[in-house]
Amino acid sequence: MPPVATIDSREHADMDPRVREVISWFERNARDLPWRHADCSPWGILVSEVMLQQTPVVRVEPVWRRWMERWPTPAALAAGTQTDAVRAWDRLGYPRRAQRLWQCATALVERHDGEVPRDHDDLLALPGIGDYTASAIRAFAFGERSVVLDTNIRRVIGRAWHATALPATHLTRTEREAAAELVPASSHDAVQWNAGSMELGALVCTARAPRCGECPLRDDCAWVAAGSLGLDEAPRRTQAWHGTDRQVRGRIVGLLRAADAPVAIAANPTLDDVSPEQLGRCAESLVADGLVRACGDGTYEL
Ligand code: SF4
Repeated sequence: MPPVATIDSREHADMDPRVREVISWFERNARDLPWRHADCSPWGILVSEVMLQQTPVVRVEPVWRRWMERWPTPAALAAGTQTDAVRAWDRLGYPRRAQRLWQCATALVERHDGEVPRDHDDLLALPGIGDYTASAIRAFAFGERSVVLDTNIRRVIGRAWHATALPATHLTRTEREAAAELVPASSHDAVQWNAGSMELGALVCTARAPRCGECPLRDDCAWVAAGSLGLDEAPRRTQAWHGTDRQVRGRIVGLLRAADAPVAIAANPTLDDVSPEQLGRCAESLVADGLVRACGDGTYEL
């Protein structure tokens, strides 16, 4: 089960009551996810954080389980090839993350004896690990007090504290400082707050259809008090997916992943709706990223 424990209200009388509500709600409602188990290694948590960067939990969980069974340590993954990692990435999307995870495993072996470091700067220096992921690893793998600001947490704080329907595209220093002030003083409560507000944003305070009637903050939510305005008018940020270079790149990688030999992508019937120009551009960018090899005569392989 997730590492949750009851907070002691006597020790945390100065905690924002809404923060305490979120932690209590999390104790009752946390999903039982394998990377939340007490015996999950820092490596397992790092892998989950990279997979979850742009992919929902429901798609990540089966791939994560297979991944950890095959590569339970950074050394195990580093002993394989980048192509193995890209193949095992399955349909999680953004396959550069698989490439970076393999590079990260290699760096962990070379620089840290195959262990995940807990120092923020050491984490940031690893391939594929940005500020958010480093903070999340410190919190969830090592129980450190840190400011974790993913899109779910930003949305919950924005609504409940600042009556903002949706967070701004870019995180500002002001927003970060305001969020930092909410993080409880004790490491344990800080971790629970980070995990709990993330879970609340994922399950209840969702982007387009918040279920305020089920929310522990409904009586104290600034956005609800202000009339729940601004959601219908807010522009949808989701980019049309079909036909984008990103989608075509994913289709090419999917095609090569399933093949045992180099594939002539320009002649492949599953890609005949893509213009030759876009196909060439996407194939070249995959080669430039080191995800795909050009084998000559218009054929490619992972
Ligand atoms: S009351 Fe509604 S808008 Fe406010 S935090 Fe809860 S789900 Fe989000």
